[in-house]
Amino acid sequence: MVKETKFYDLLGVSTTATEVEIKKAYRKTALKFHPDKNPSAEAAEKFKAASAAYEVLMDAEKRELYDQLGEEGLSGGGAGAGGFGGFGGFGDDIFSQFFGGGASRPRGPQKGRDIRHEMAVTLEELYKGRTAKLALNKQILCKACEGRGGKEGAVKKCASCNGQGVKFVTRQMGPMIQRFQTECDACNGTGDIIDPKDRCKSCGGKKVANERKILEVHVDPGMKDGQKIVFEGEADQAPGVIPGDVIFVVSEKPHKNFRREGDDLLYEAEIDLLTAIAGGEFALEHVSGDWLKVDIVPGEVIAPGMRKVIEGKGMPIYKYGGYGNLLVKFNIKFPPNHFTTAENLKKLEEILPPRQKTTIPSKASVEDCVLSDFDPAKYHKGGRGSNSYDEDEDEQPGAEGVQCASQ
Ligand SMILES: [Zn+2]
Ligand SMILES: [Zn+2]
Repeated sequence: MVKETKFYDLLGVSTTATEVEIKKAYRKTALKFHPDKNPSAEAAEKFKAASAAYEVLMDAEKRELYDQLGEEGLSGGGAGAGGFGGFGGFGDDIFSQFFGGGASRPRGPQKGRDIRHEMAVTLEELYKGRTAKLALNKQILCKACEGRGGKEGAVKKCASCNGQGVKFVTRQMGPMIQRFQTECDACNGTGDIIDPKDRCKSCGGKKVANERKILEVHVDPGMKDGQKIVFEGEADQAPGVIPGDVIFVVSEKPHKNFRREGDDLLYEAEIDLLTAIAGGEFALEHVSGDWLKVDIVPGEVIAPGMRKVIEGKGMPIYKYGGYGNLLVKFNIKFPPNHFTTAENLKKLEEILPPRQKTTIPSKASVEDCVLSDFDPAKYHKGGRGSNSYDEDEDEQPGAEGVQCASQ
């Protein structure tokens, strides 16, 4: 019998995946396809299917049954009438456990709010990795009363508001009847009634306290902009609520010399004309902190705008190890006007390849032109006057700053 793997495939995990891996994969899938985020019918189906798969794979007994007998094995195993065809809304419940507030039916414990924190990191830090200690001021359940608010057994649910902490009040105002929500005065909005003598001395019955906690945030080598570092359940605690997560989002600071593209780094190098055509070297300070000395072998010609690759000098590849590449784009620094004598220029004619021959059809009428200097101040859209450079003209090669005289 061929082993069925549909449920694993739905979540994109292997059949040997751990609970943590399955949880992570489900979270990802659920976020992508949850009806709140993705209203298409196809997404709804995928969300349902992934939730069903998750429900089974997180239950050791059901998972074993599924591994042995496939989906059919489950329908016979007391998993409910009709097997796993019509899942009702239980996907929503799982979702609300994870994300809180997302589901329409608040059943079971709700999840508290996540705390998000953007973490600005330099490219150098993303290269080497960095550990940051960050202080978090958070609300925790009172340790003295374990979040009950008083002695065990002494805390009673408020009968006036049924433990909700709020009451609905109806009030007649002229011809109108208004219904509004108000804090329960019997329990001061806490939902509990505690005899003052049994009230927790530490928190005064509030059930919660504040705590300063140091989180050690590890930015691993090769992490990317937008990547999340999650501390599960480290957000504020409150009675009857599953604490949310503290999420650090990596934000890559722009670098003055490098741009990053995935695992590769992009660098613009400027070399002089002599080095470009006769070889030489250049150096650059890498994000690793080292300097890279790069040889240009005599004989190799580097043209302006040319790109070359230095292999293995990109960013570390997150979790996989190894490195991306360093892509170098060349700018060539040409010598200034009148950089050498007329005799030397003659010598260049012997050295460099000959000039390209000018070809003009023999019957064409010919105008002689000279180049004048380009003045950027005169170059703007909608420029006025005969001296301004028109935008259209610029697109014709050689049109820039050319003045012609009829012969
Ligand atoms: Zn307490
Ligand atoms: Zn009350």
